[in-house]
Amino acid sequence: MWMPASRYPDPAIQALDDSFNKYRITLAAVERLSTGYRWCEGPVWFGDQRCLIWSDIPNNQMLRWDEQSGQVTPFRKPSNYANGNSRDRQGRLITCEHGGRRVTRTEYDGSLTVLADSYQGKRLNSPNDVVVKSDGSIWFSDPAFGIAGNYEGHKAAAELPQWLYRLDPASGALSVVADDCVGPNGLCFSPDESVLYVVDSRATPNRLIRAYDVSANGSALSNSRVHIDCGPGAADGMRCDSDGNLWCGWGMGNDHLDGVMVFNPDGHAIGRIALPERCANLCFGGVARNRLFMAASQSVYALYVNAQGATLS
Ligand code: MG
Repeated sequence: MWMPASRYPDPAIQALDDSFNKYRITLAAVERLSTGYRWCEGPVWFGDQRCLIWSDIPNNQMLRWDEQSGQVTPFRKPSNYANGNSRDRQGRLITCEHGGRRVTRTEYDGSLTVLADSYQGKRLNSPNDVVVKSDGSIWFSDPAFGIAGNYEGHKAAAELPQWLYRLDPASGALSVVADDCVGPNGLCFSPDESVLYVVDSRATPNRLIRAYDVSANGSALSNSRVHIDCGPGAADGMRCDSDGNLWCGWGMGNDHLDGVMVFNPDGHAIGRIALPERCANLCFGGVARNRLFMAASQSVYALYVNAQGATLS
């Protein structure tokens, strides 16, 4: 039975390199905010609402944790087996749906607008994770994980390869920006948006985090390369802090691997946060963007760190 650390410093926060020490707060411990779910994913912070929204994919629901009260209430159920979430430049919720095989935007009145559900007349597979660039373009991965069975979506055959897409904010046009990931998953931009990082969950023999250079006009990728070889670990979703470090949901059902791995911009592991469950995805939140929210299997955890998220969501 996992218990929060009752004494500081919390041994769950581990420096693998001295350079990590400036990011840890010795008087902060990992907190379990809520538990009792099946597979938590897609945490996104709403600073204006002071709440965290996330997906519980197999339960076909999204939840909302309120920072003021600590209460968790349903946000959307059914959620069409929603997975990754983000916010656009206008603060609207952007959601990947396995069940709907689409990416949606939640309007201010609560209605849903479908942003993408097909490419060249063929259905998307099961959009997994999404980020929004400062120019308003929406970038998402489309692996087939969510149509592989009936647990996290609806079993179906793939109609398209597993690609990475960019949705143009002005025209709504969809374009393929990367076709060399076997199973594209989590993604995020470097703080200056010159590099896009993408997890390849089906690379062999190990999962990879690939890096791509973003073109000057911000609409294309080049120079695909291996940034991090995950070894026996399973990366899923990730976010950059303002120093360019990658904070990655991590695990493989092994207590030496479950939690969060932190890599510096050169791709070297500098720290980890041990959790009792595999972590799928994370985001920074709180007024100072210095609280890490971790969606980890059946629970959501939080930890204050001495780092700040590079973006608002
Ligand atoms: Mg994912």
